[in-house]
Amino acid sequence: MNDCIFCKIASGQMRAQIIYQDEDAVVFKDLNPQAPTHLLIIPVKHIENISAAEQQDAALLGKLQLTAAKVAKELGIKDYRLVANNGKGAGQTVLHLHYHLMAGRRFLWPAG
Ligand code: 5GP
Ligand code: ZN
Repeated sequence: MNDCIFCKIASGQMRAQIIYQDEDAVVFKDLNPQAPTHLLIIPVKHIENISAAEQQDAALLGKLQLTAAKVAKELGIKDYRLVANNGKGAGQTVLHLHYHLMAGRRFLWPAG
């Protein structure tokens, strides 16, 4: 996926404020934060969204959530919202799977 910005961040071709990185996942600060802490957790592998994930991605999807939990713990964040917008109609603007980890303010429920 040559023109995918999150693939470029994962491969180091594009700069981002990276908080955590391993062979499967990257965590970096959102460019336009919507909360005092707003991180994005992405797979290194290009998967468009949760709908596009396949059975073979099951462990990777689990790892992304565990990575979110691990980073939150390391940052001393106990309460947070972990969200994935799936599809343009649900607010997905970057077509590379990502979880938003947001914390540091009150969140409405149901989500807006
Ligand atoms: P979505 O709307 O797809 O759920 O979320 C995409 C997120 O990516 C948005 O919160 C947006 O601010 C963030 N974003 C878009 N382009 C960049 C970028 O180049 N760098 C970083 N760090 N975040 C980005
Ligand atoms: Zn990508």
